[in-house]
Parts: sequence; C-alpha cells; structure tokens
Amino acid sequence: MTVTMPPPISRRMAKLDIIKVPDPLLRKVSTPVERVDDDLRRFLDDMLETMYEAPGIGLAAVQVAQPIRAIVMDIAKGEDEPKSPIAMINPEIVELGSEMRLHEEGCLSIPEVYAELERPASALVRYIDREGRRQEMRCEGLLATVLQHEVDHLDGKLFIDYLGRLKRDMIIKKFKKQKALASS
Ligand SMILES: [Zn+2]
Repeated sequence: MTVTMPPPISRRMAKLDIIKVPDPLLRKVSTPVERVDDDLRRFLDDMLETMYEAPGIGLAAVQVAQPIRAIVMDIAKGEDEPKSPIAMINPEIVELGSEMRLHEEGCLSIPEVYAELERPASALVRYIDREGRRQEMRCEGLLATVLQHEVDHLDGKLFIDYLGRLKRDMIIKKFKKQKALASS
C-alpha cells in the first residue's frame, strides 16, 4: 500500500467477496490503518460497492478478508432516498448512551440469520475520514446500531455472540455443516 499510481480515467469499481462464518478471519482483531492514500480510498469505494450490491447497510474490511480497521455504512433506504455513504478509518467509540434500542440484526457474513439485539441507542465515535482528517460523529438510532455492529467486527466479535452460547454454537454448527456439504 505504498506505491501511489495515478488513478485511471474511468475506473470501474470492483465487487469484493464477502467471507462467511465459520471463516476464522472473522475472529481476528483488525489492525489500525497507518496511512490514508489512494489505494485505501479505492478499497473503501470497493467496500461500498460490495455493500450496496449485497445489499447491506454496513460492512467491515475484515468481511472482505482485509483485517484492517475500516468500516463503511449507509442507512439510506431504497431507491428514492439519496445515498449517504459513510466511511470510517480507525473508528473508536468513545461514549455510549444509557438508553437502549432494540433492532433485528443480520450480518452479510452470517446469511439468513436474524436476531433482536439491544444496544445503546446513541454512540459518539472518533475516526479518520477518507481525506485523512480526524472526525467525531454522534450516531443515533439505526446508525448507532450499525456502527456498534461494524466496530465489533474489527474486534473479531459477531452479533450472534450476544445471543448466548447455546444459540451461537447452534448457528455456527449449521454453517460448518453447510460448508462441509458444499465442499464434499
Ligand atoms: Zn456483520
């Protein structure tokens, strides 16, 4: 990530492969990003493209097999609402609200599994933006939920970890079995 090439005139964004449980990479703690350059910006664009196509409202870099501390989010709904992509580098949640919010969560790395989870309804996050500037954002409601879900990914944590051991193990077992069937 040190060679900076001039960007091609019209570069098509690339869709990346999303890894799924039980891929052990999903349990890895992602490493901080040390420099914000064109390669990283291109990668963030590819992550957004991948997220929109999935479709999803949040994606962490580790989900496309790059264990670095970067996430993208967009909670705008449907075609009629304009896109509002957010990319955060090295996000750090510095404050969580005391009020809780219930939301049925899913994850692009755990297809077709949904569960209601309670998380703080607001969060203050510090991060580096795609221009390399330090930023701070107060996230509320759905954005607060997505933010916490994605930052968890950077620490190797999945939303099913909140469900209790029995339920979590059942879900992982199901995916292991699917994987075994697919490769046999
Ligand atoms: Zn997820």
